[in-house]
Amino acid sequence: MDRPVIRKDLAELAVRPNLEDYDEGCADFDWTEARRALAGLPGGGVNIAHEAVDRHADGPLADHEALRFVRADGSVRALTYAQLSREAGRFASVLRGLGIRRGERVYSLLGRRPELYAAVLGTLKHGAVFCPLFSAFGPEPVRQRMEIGSGRVLVTTRALYRKKVAPIRDALPELRHVLLVDGSGATDAAAEPGTLDLVTLLAEASDYGPTAATGPEDMALLHFTSGTTGRPKGAVHVHDAVTAHYATGRFALDLHPEDVYWCTADPGWVTGTSYGIIAPLVHGVTAIVDEEEMDADRWYRILAEQRVTVWYTAPTALRMLMKAGTERIAGYDLSALRFVASVGEPLNPEVVMWGQEAFGLPVHDNWWQTETGGIMISNYPAMDIRPGSMGRPLPGIEAGVLARDDAGAPVVRDGEAVLCEPDATGELALRPGWPSMFRGYLHEEERYRKCFAGGWYLTGDLARRDADGYFWFVGRGDDVIKSSGHLIGPFEVESCLLEHEAVAEAAVIGIPDEVAGEVVKAFVELKPGHEASDALRLELIGFTRKRLGPAVAPRLLDFAPALPKTRSGKILRRLLKARELGLPEGDTSTLEAGR
Ligand code: AMP
Repeated sequence: MDRPVIRKDLAELAVRPNLEDYDEGCADFDWTEARRALAGLPGGGVNIAHEAVDRHADGPLADHEALRFVRADGSVRALTYAQLSREAGRFASVLRGLGIRRGERVYSLLGRRPELYAAVLGTLKHGAVFCPLFSAFGPEPVRQRMEIGSGRVLVTTRALYRKKVAPIRDALPELRHVLLVDGSGATDAAAEPGTLDLVTLLAEASDYGPTAATGPEDMALLHFTSGTTGRPKGAVHVHDAVTAHYATGRFALDLHPEDVYWCTADPGWVTGTSYGIIAPLVHGVTAIVDEEEMDADRWYRILAEQRVTVWYTAPTALRMLMKAGTERIAGYDLSALRFVASVGEPLNPEVVMWGQEAFGLPVHDNWWQTETGGIMISNYPAMDIRPGSMGRPLPGIEAGVLARDDAGAPVVRDGEAVLCEPDATGELALRPGWPSMFRGYLHEEERYRKCFAGGWYLTGDLARRDADGYFWFVGRGDDVIKSSGHLIGPFEVESCLLEHEAVAEAAVIGIPDEVAGEVVKAFVELKPGHEASDALRLELIGFTRKRLGPAVAPRLLDFAPALPKTRSGKILRRLLKARELGLPEGDTSTLEAGR
């Protein structure tokens, strides 16, 4: 099949790429060798915080800028590796002072603020486990995730605490300490009952001393993700993940020591941790942190003024920039930019090409998910791009497309899953064993076990692999919704709707959206005695927004006299979606009569 290709010429690249020859790079790679690029703890073992900051703070990078924060007014505040290491040490000391033990969970509910970075690294240094929450979550998603992970400490702001945590605090008996980053003194924080003022605690804290002697398999990070049914899943990641953060930062993001790197991901999600914090710091580069939300002019100003060289962003953001108009870029000097990468949702070929027009650089799509902990499939600076393709597996990663049976399960023969022929659609799968692979879903052994079959980890995504080894995303294998890069479990939204007195049944699907990829749409069957009306529609949307937060709540809501269900009572979201989009309804043999 003839597809457009963006040819790469080594001689035209501004910097010699880390991965010059893809096939050679893959053949030469092994994880043991990759680990040698890291320092390891002086007494043995590995700790992410040591690799990310402490070893640099003790070496030639001590005075190099680690993080550069861009405030609302455009002014900047930088932290060197030595300063960041000290602040992380103080945070670790605060945890020790509070009696937090190794392995206990420290949560954050914060935007991109300097305190977040010290908290992540300090938590890891102390050997505790860090778990970020998305600040646009409402009280209910916060409560569920804190409860599942038995959160002991929460770091947040006064406003977020009042709005999202105070209403559910009584339901979290295991939460011992809430640390407010914007308390301006002990008395002030005392005014917010049940919280402590982090500013005061940090000011009183001593330096920490040696990093906790964690081993490669010790739990370091807990990242929540959503499935089609059930509660959110807490993916467990270990300290050895840093090996993959390093290797992928090197090959997929092409990080070089002199880079100024900007990852625009929200710190509440896995990308914000793996590539907003760990990978750039492990590479000793300067990472830009924008404290504000997205705005086209602001972003171009940051790219220009901060002389960003490597930019890692997302399709929704790129589509918004594209929509704002290429002419907006005129007047900004983006000459420092040499590599643009994107992740999180399908990247349309038009956006890849728009990059060429707007920045003189194509956008490099890459693929991964919460469970994989790091980039698995990617386009590289020195490899031709096939716009619309996610690229090829990272060195050290074996990816495959598995044939599926009629029920959608992988076909397994003699214990080994059967691979699809080139260009055929199947389930995207990875050979287990890479360092950042999740080690479990917290407290859900069975759910974890089900992710593996015939020697592979099953990603839940559908994909194709062409004859040259490029992977193409086809869609999700389940009903999970991706909106503005955020994974939303329909069940979570349906459960919330069912709490409303007027709702008998609810079904939630994703509807294609030009900018956000998908938006959440709910269908509601009302209880007798309740009438469908615009007022009730608004009330239901408001009800879910209040509990779930704007990032998760449905944007659209329709009333339906009867939702399509199987005879066993399962709502057929797929059928609703097909009807909504005017697509073929497929197999409806299990449909309950009259639906
Ligand atoms: P999350 O675990 O929230 O990071 O979401 C992971 C999911 O996002 C994947 O399983 C895919 O469904 C989707 N995704 C991530 N990257 C891409 C990409 N480059 N192209 C298409 N879908 C993607």
